[in-house]
Amino acid sequence: MTSHPRYSIVAPIFNEEGNIPLLYDRMCRVMDGLGEPWEMICVNDGSRDRSAELLDELAARDSRIKAIHFARNFGHQIAVTAGIDYALGDAVILIDADLQDPPELIVDMVERWKAGYEVVYATRERREGETWFKIFTAHMFYRVIHAITDVHIPVDTGDFRLMDRRVVDVLKSMREHSRFIRGMTSWVGFRQIGVSYVRDQRHSGETKYPLRKMIRFALDAITGFSFWPLQIMIYVALLLGVLALLAIPFVTIMRVATDTLWFEGQATTIILLLLLSSFQLFFLFVLGQYVARTYDETRNRPLYVVARTEGFDSQDTDKHLPLLTEEAFEVESGD
Ligand code: UDP
Ligand code: MG
Repeated sequence: MTSHPRYSIVAPIFNEEGNIPLLYDRMCRVMDGLGEPWEMICVNDGSRDRSAELLDELAARDSRIKAIHFARNFGHQIAVTAGIDYALGDAVILIDADLQDPPELIVDMVERWKAGYEVVYATRERREGETWFKIFTAHMFYRVIHAITDVHIPVDTGDFRLMDRRVVDVLKSMREHSRFIRGMTSWVGFRQIGVSYVRDQRHSGETKYPLRKMIRFALDAITGFSFWPLQIMIYVALLLGVLALLAIPFVTIMRVATDTLWFEGQATTIILLLLLSSFQLFFLFVLGQYVARTYDETRNRPLYVVARTEGFDSQDTDKHLPLLTEEAFEVESGD
């Protein structure tokens, strides 16, 4: 049996075969330097490359490395959630497996944690080697989220962060399906502080966030932390109503007082109709986003399905499940 880990590293893995060996090496160097027991939980989110094999090999060789294999791809935020559920450390550190988040920064995070902060998040000062599209959309995304939410969600801050056990335990009790982990951690509160860093290029492979996943992620973040999109409808309604009220006397006076026909033809009507339909459909879409997520929550499906795990102590298994609801179930192969 390994000793109780002081630190748990959680790394979500989706087709990261080119990054796993270096991630392991750099993590060992950093964590061994801290001189306290640690574990690294790698959540294999349905990878189709050699990631699973590499993780199993590492887990067999080094008892600090643990692997959770999902039954399919559940997405980044869910993979992180599973890692948090299984982590036993007094501090849990979330990190991307592609080495865009430098493991060396963990030393600074630990220092702040020991100084009394419950959450130490890493803020990106600059991003290296990403497309202008990614940089621009990410820049806008963080600012929009910041502007429309009541919770203070720091800008330019990803999931790379250290969390104290007290925060982790609250997070484990939050079982919402549309998950925006960085917002959820902010929501928990306690003393939070940032450390800044330069976000490196991906070490190997391509981004696992195609546009489709990015949009879904942004919608989850917005609907999960703000009702503002629902509330702005009233302003549009008021604006259009006032316009209509002003138009009635205006049109009447123009018609009675002058000889010219001011409003004629179908073109104006057609354009207005298209514009208003577009507004209405847009707001229906917004409404639909909230309704769909409400439905998703009420179905109460488990957040993820674990096909098998590697490297965990069997006597610790009961500690891994979420605190309030035991909804993560395992489909063990071979029995
Ligand atoms: N990831 C995952 N499941 C997914 C997509 C991504 O577990 O469906 C992992 C991925 O392996 C990486 C992290 O989430 O460790 C961040 O993904 P990525 O680097 O592709 O995102 P980006 O940095 O481009 O925003
Ligand atoms: Mg990345």
